[in-house]
Amino acid sequence: MSRTEYKTHSASEVTEALIGTTVTLAGWVDRRRDHGEMTFIDLRDHSGLIQIVVDQPKLAEGIKSEYVIQVTGTVAHRPNGEVNDHLASGAIEIDAKKITVLSQARTLPFQVSTILENNGDNPLPGEDVRLKYRYLDLRRPAMQKRLKMRSDMARAARESLYQQGFEEVETPTMIKSTPEGARDFVVPARLQPGCWYALPQSPQLLKQLLMVGGVERYFQMARCYRDEDFRADRQPEFTQLDMEMSYVGQEDVIAMGEKVIHDIWKSQGYDIPTPLPRINWQDAMDWYGSDKPDLRFGNKLVDLTDFFKDTPFRIFQADYVGAVLYKGGASLHRRQFDDWQSWARQRGAKGLAYAIFKDGEVTGPVAKHISDAERAGLKEAVKGEDGDAVFFAAGPREGSQMLLGLVRREIARRQGLLDPHKFAFTWVVNFPLFRRADDPNDDHVAVGHSQWTSMHHPFTMPSKDWIDKFDQDPGHAMSDSYDIVCNGLEMGGGSVRIHRDDIQDRVFKVLGISQEEAHRKFGFLLDAFKFGAPPHAGMAIGWDRCVAIMAGVDSIRDVIAFPKAHSGEDPMTGAPAPITAQQRRETGVDATPDHTQADRHQ
Ligand code: ASP
Repeated sequence: MSRTEYKTHSASEVTEALIGTTVTLAGWVDRRRDHGEMTFIDLRDHSGLIQIVVDQPKLAEGIKSEYVIQVTGTVAHRPNGEVNDHLASGAIEIDAKKITVLSQARTLPFQVSTILENNGDNPLPGEDVRLKYRYLDLRRPAMQKRLKMRSDMARAARESLYQQGFEEVETPTMIKSTPEGARDFVVPARLQPGCWYALPQSPQLLKQLLMVGGVERYFQMARCYRDEDFRADRQPEFTQLDMEMSYVGQEDVIAMGEKVIHDIWKSQGYDIPTPLPRINWQDAMDWYGSDKPDLRFGNKLVDLTDFFKDTPFRIFQADYVGAVLYKGGASLHRRQFDDWQSWARQRGAKGLAYAIFKDGEVTGPVAKHISDAERAGLKEAVKGEDGDAVFFAAGPREGSQMLLGLVRREIARRQGLLDPHKFAFTWVVNFPLFRRADDPNDDHVAVGHSQWTSMHHPFTMPSKDWIDKFDQDPGHAMSDSYDIVCNGLEMGGGSVRIHRDDIQDRVFKVLGISQEEAHRKFGFLLDAFKFGAPPHAGMAIGWDRCVAIMAGVDSIRDVIAFPKAHSGEDPMTGAPAPITAQQRRETGVDATPDHTQADRHQ
């Protein structure tokens, strides 16, 4: 299969079945070792490593690490006892008859050799260096494996979707703004100075228009662009497996999404039992302090608001008091509890109140402030035991629960419960339709100008019970939307869409988007809805995140071939970079649109 002008086989294809035959391989010199008259070269290609034995010193003369060479030789058994487990083809070697240098290499800025990496002798350089020389970083087998995994997962997803009657449609990347709650990246339009395209935050509106256009089941591996502040593990451009279906409701999309996820995991050897569990958004917040709960472990938050309703402790006289149990936490030293305080402060909390259950007593800073009855009942209220500790949060409900949610996960992390090879999926369902635009727990850009903004996006359908009244009580209105969560990470989400322009108008009104603004921004969608729009719904899976979860890595940068660094820069190409004065003039970035153009866009 791998036979080309340069080679007959790839390293991993050379098996014992080929012993005695002549093969030609091509690849990098992973490592060279000289033992007197004999030279050993580990040859590396995308498939693995194989040992080359050179017994005529002349053949290997001048050959150094990372040279690209072509080797012709005879496949042989390795001498007994010398089987090398590091190599893909550990039991065999190639007796070199001819070596051709295809390309020389300078000393690399860092070592990519597998064997050193496996021995832990080859610590990786900082990420900046890895990204500057990404093409070298990609040579590392760990990266090769992840790219291959990504490709195999995409194939499985596509096959699953084809089986389910989907077709792949590409949508443009130079469009008008689509609001997903982030800022747009924009591209100047040279031919209309002062006018700009926006890069899509997702194909949301376009996929909805495909439904109006008669495509009943659409998907796309879509590139999305969101100009957000740089936070851990966000990329300004990323990939979504984007899907949309007509004539379906929430249950249909969930069933379809589960099959896709099942088939993706299957491609990597996991049999994920379906149907996947579900949790209501409110329960996720109450029990796990997160709308993306990590269900690899238990330890639900305990609501103590009632328990402390008459408390003398001022701090606990709050809208909400909650706790999370730290099994065995009583053995922590004072210093470790102090560390927890700074850990909480780094996450914006004032501190982290705690109590300790030890020798039948309740101790710790909280103990002396609460009443005798509270002290006596606390252990039972939090279902603790002697030897445990408990952390508290008190204040506004959502913020306190979110802090406890972080504590819960951090405790699990410290207890080694976050096994990256265990996958705990759940759908989160029954989301509110709106959230307060000034919500301190949310960093999305409000889509309109009212006190309400969309929880998902403005095209999300209110749930059936709320269709007639969501605008009278936006704070309680619920939506038909759903997220898919795995191991405490939001892997994707979607919703049933509004397909009627009257409902869409009312949603815009709640969001504080005037008719004129709605028309200017989304007129094309609203117009389309006037020409017969089928009911439709869909979802998208964050593809980078999905692959990172499968690969068991924390950073999506580790599963993207050429990601941006933390700062948003690309250390390899130097982007973003200033443009020349001539480019400024040509692209019209400094131009103000004239009235006729501006009017045309109204
Ligand atoms: N467009 C949505 C997003 O990017 C997903 C969806 O509703 O299909 O979050």
